[in-house]
Amino acid sequence: MSTAPDHPARAVVDLDAIRDNVRALRATAPTAQVMAVVKADAYGHGLFPVARAALAGGATWLGVAHGAEALAVRAAVGPGHRILTWLYAPGASFADLVRNDVDVAVAAAWALDEVADGARAAGRTARVHLKVDTGLGRNGIMPEDLPAVLDRAAALQAEGALAVVGLMSHFALADEPDDPSVKMQTHVFEDAVRTAEAAGMPIEVRHIANSAATLTNPSAHYDLVRPGIAVYGLSPVPHLGAPGDYGLRPAMTLEARLATVKRVPAGHGVSYGHFYTTTQDTVLGVIPLGYGDGIPRHASGGSLGPGGPVLVGGAVDDVAAPGTGLGTARVLRIAGRVCMDQVILDLGPYAPEQAGDVVTLFGASDGLARAGAPNAEDWAQAAGTISYEIVTRLGARVPRVYAGTAGRETA
Ligand SMILES: *Cc1c(COP(=O)(O)O)cnc(C)c1O
Repeated sequence: MSTAPDHPARAVVDLDAIRDNVRALRATAPTAQVMAVVKADAYGHGLFPVARAALAGGATWLGVAHGAEALAVRAAVGPGHRILTWLYAPGASFADLVRNDVDVAVAAAWALDEVADGARAAGRTARVHLKVDTGLGRNGIMPEDLPAVLDRAAALQAEGALAVVGLMSHFALADEPDDPSVKMQTHVFEDAVRTAEAAGMPIEVRHIANSAATLTNPSAHYDLVRPGIAVYGLSPVPHLGAPGDYGLRPAMTLEARLATVKRVPAGHGVSYGHFYTTTQDTVLGVIPLGYGDGIPRHASGGSLGPGGPVLVGGAVDDVAAPGTGLGTARVLRIAGRVCMDQVILDLGPYAPEQAGDVVTLFGASDGLARAGAPNAEDWAQAAGTISYEIVTRLGARVPRVYAGTAGRETA
């Protein structure tokens, strides 16, 4: 592990996995284009390398929440790829977005007028996607308000300020494909499309499917799918299937070098609050990662919970080429409280580990999987959350290191 000495931990992101996951999603939704969702720094994986790797996999669109993210993506990938942004407050820099050829989702009448103002200032026509609330109860135009918004959009379209090119929505329970709300939202969505087309807006792209709907609900694919978590090789529906069941593989490995390995007697309390106490003479190992790095405090162990899992032992020192010596490999659970910068393992009385040895919190490669490395879903379960949060909240302090070549040819 070639981590700089002042960075005792790192996240290795396999760009080829990102590319291959996008390819798999294209095969899953062959009638639709793929928009790779790269908001929140590509779910913690790093915006620019991921955006390029996703394009290398055949994504034709990139999706982000914020305008600033859209402009950053545009700068990273250059002209020619479609980019969509969907979340902002009044006063956003719509002229910049239009000038940079970014599509804008509109979820309220005021936004339509602000986007049109931005288009006039930019001297170009804005491409707009109307976002309809078909039942999620989040942002989106309520169906009963759609006709009035369409009237306004038609006037602005006639003037040349904007063109409505898309109609989009989002599911509340895409991860429960048999829930009646899924079908109900689909009906409302199709009604909205018909209403828009009747108002003289030929919709270029209809889109409603996130990862879960892309993987489990072909009737929701329409013209464009918007997968996020699946691009990173994690399952949006862990209760229905693992990544491999959908042809996906996780892209991120989180590993660290033990900062301290030391012997303590039986009955020794471990970490804040002493929620773990050694039951025998044993060896403790300190991992230099904590909640300041995005390790959930809810993944504390001992009497606080199951504790986040960690693979120790063996020379798993390179995700691209795991070493030999996996004979001592074992998965241990965090002992006691997760601290801001550190967590502690009870390595056992015969631990061969030394300070500096590499441990894996969650891993992606085949070699790590064979060694029994935990994955982000295991961490999600230990912390009572979802894998999305495990990878997305990984702190800025943890260096991202890239493996693979996808998307780097043009970098
Ligand atoms: C985040 C987001 C997505 C991607 O969701 P996943 O569950 O990660 O696939 C798609 N569409 C919208 C509007 C989103 O906010």
